[in-house]
Amino acid sequence: MQKEKVVIIGSGPAGLTAALYTARANLKPLVVAGSQIGGQISLTAEVENYPGFFNAEHTPTGPELVDVMQKQAEHFGARVEFDEVTEVDFSKGSPFYVKTYGKEYEAESVIVTAGASPRRLGVPGEEGYIGRGVSYCGTCDGFFFRGKKVVVVGGGDSAIEEAIFLTKFASSVTVIHRRDELRAGHTLQERAFANEKISFIWDTVVDEIVGENTVNKVKLTNRKTGEESEFETDGVFVFIGHYPNSKFLEGKLAMDEHGYLITDEMMRTSVEGVYAAGEIQDPVYRQIATSVGQGTAAALRAEKWLSERE
Ligand code: NAP
Repeated sequence: MQKEKVVIIGSGPAGLTAALYTARANLKPLVVAGSQIGGQISLTAEVENYPGFFNAEHTPTGPELVDVMQKQAEHFGARVEFDEVTEVDFSKGSPFYVKTYGKEYEAESVIVTAGASPRRLGVPGEEGYIGRGVSYCGTCDGFFFRGKKVVVVGGGDSAIEEAIFLTKFASSVTVIHRRDELRAGHTLQERAFANEKISFIWDTVVDEIVGENTVNKVKLTNRKTGEESEFETDGVFVFIGHYPNSKFLEGKLAMDEHGYLITDEMMRTSVEGVYAAGEIQDPVYRQIATSVGQGTAAALRAEKWLSERE
């Protein structure tokens, strides 16, 4: 069993910031990064709202930002393992047991920053056509829809931001939203309404995704009139929010009815010595800047808690 002072579960902005702070406190943190470092921002094309990284010539990409965060944390002594946590035991208090596919750890403290994942529509055809027309990431898959027709489902910031991004590739982008007004912020809305490639289908939900080898249409229902219709499309991009990656913590840490971890203002979870930061405990702000702040607070608290025990 490998002994660690601090194990950080997750490698998004919250995790890498917690790693930086605990590394600078000489705790040599171990980051269990998951299969891809950076979490959701690694799938983000352009990051325009993270202060301090403005460049009028070149908006930084998510992966560029992650790369700097990782290098900075490693420079001060953090170690990153590309593995996934499969099991934890917090029941006996510190030291805690953390198991990954490859290893077992005994950790004096744990910072959980496992983030959130895109929500699925849950309609027939969705699961079967993932990678064959159904996508949750414009940055990853937009390129495959060069010159093609796509639909975007959702009306929040993510849906509209991605709809605008997809116009770089697609011949047309149709946003299908279940209400008659967008949830997205004003600036994004204005940009979308002004974009000739983007059109909207309002008050409408997707009932089914249909195709042969790849997607070729969606079946729709208008929620106000009940009218059913079909819409031809080559791709369906779903951006309807997220769910926290907390399944492996069920019964181990207190969470709300949606699975978000419950933390206090010191980023403490229900188990002493276990802290949480970022989207796994924050359904509200979900920004790189807020996750970085929460990761900082969790790391400072973990460090203080460890030093008081010694
Ligand atoms: P969101 O704000 O929760 O929006 C989800 C959208 O999907 C809503 O329009 C919602 O409709 C719709 N929706 C939810 N469930 C649905 C279903 N089953 N079928 C059809 N439509 C469904 O999620 P988000 O856009 O991912 O944004 C999450 C957070 O991240 C927000 O706080 C947002 O501000 C932030 N964010 C910020 C930026 C940025 O600052 N540039 C970019 C991306 C995200 P209703 O409107 O009817 O509820």
